[in-house]
Amino acid sequence: MKIFLDNYNRYKAPGLDFKKVKQSHIFPLLENLSLPFVIDKIGKSFENRDIYGVRIGKGATRVLAWTQMHGDESTATRSLFDLFRFLTADDELNAIRSAIMENLSMLFVPMLNPDGAERWQRENAQGIDTNRDARQVVTPEAQILQQLCRSLQPHFAFNLHDQNSYYSAGNTRYPAIFSFLAAPPDSEDTLYPTRLQAMQLIGYTYKALQNILPRQISRWSNDYEPRAFGEWFQSQKVATILVESGGYPNDEERCQVRHFHFGIFIEMLYAIATHAYNEEPIEAYYALPLNRENGMFDCVVRQTTITINDKSFTSDIGYRENGTVVGDLSDYGSFEELIKN
Ligand SMILES: [Zn+2]
Repeated sequence: MKIFLDNYNRYKAPGLDFKKVKQSHIFPLLENLSLPFVIDKIGKSFENRDIYGVRIGKGATRVLAWTQMHGDESTATRSLFDLFRFLTADDELNAIRSAIMENLSMLFVPMLNPDGAERWQRENAQGIDTNRDARQVVTPEAQILQQLCRSLQPHFAFNLHDQNSYYSAGNTRYPAIFSFLAAPPDSEDTLYPTRLQAMQLIGYTYKALQNILPRQISRWSNDYEPRAFGEWFQSQKVATILVESGGYPNDEERCQVRHFHFGIFIEMLYAIATHAYNEEPIEAYYALPLNRENGMFDCVVRQTTITINDKSFTSDIGYRENGTVVGDLSDYGSFEELIKN
């Protein structure tokens, strides 16, 4: 993983140094892709924007990945274009990229929800959350995704999102920079062999990240949401990995997180290509701490004197955009403290 991250600047795609990425920002990058990339129009959004699929690789293992299903979650879109540059570069990492290209047939959908991206909103132009539309399938974006699954029959799928910055990695003072999940396929939490593969791949990646982002990786809630696509793909017996990019200190535009996501992309694709993950015990997956919602603050004032109605007491005060909390915050961290230390 480290070697991919250390050499990142060689591959970083231009023009995406900010969070609010719309379709117009990725057009020049799509236009620049040439063989061995094949670009297809795979359908139209509700507002008739073309949605693109980018194919590369000639291997027997089929991989599908989509980004920005939620219009205001762009980190994986940006790192995907970095990955494209990595895949067609020519340098001392050729053995890595050729293993990926020879063993995998990959189909990437950069920005499944261009209408939402245009408005910088989660939902599509119908006001529907596509990731709650896997059963009724009334959004064209959900129709496209299900159609892709049926026609491609991928072995692996990557469901790529952003989470808000205030999740912590378990009950710690550290943010969940990435959260992973192999979603349950049904209310019985069935462990299909394909789901076990997704868990193994996550456990493998967690280990690869441990020295790079120690204590800052977590597992997304396993609650069964039958309307969501992670669950739907898993029920189709596709090994499906949810990746949620999260908050990093001093990284409002999520440029650092994009850089780490790039490394995760290569690590995971290479592990699939070489089967490196398939010795991984399932315990490695369950060792990930659970995501804690609102586990982080922008700033915490610790053990300060507070006076209300002429009565004084000592407590912590935490501040974040969605509210102020008074009380024992000794297990809660703040980005201000992380930046200082
Ligand atoms: Zn999302």
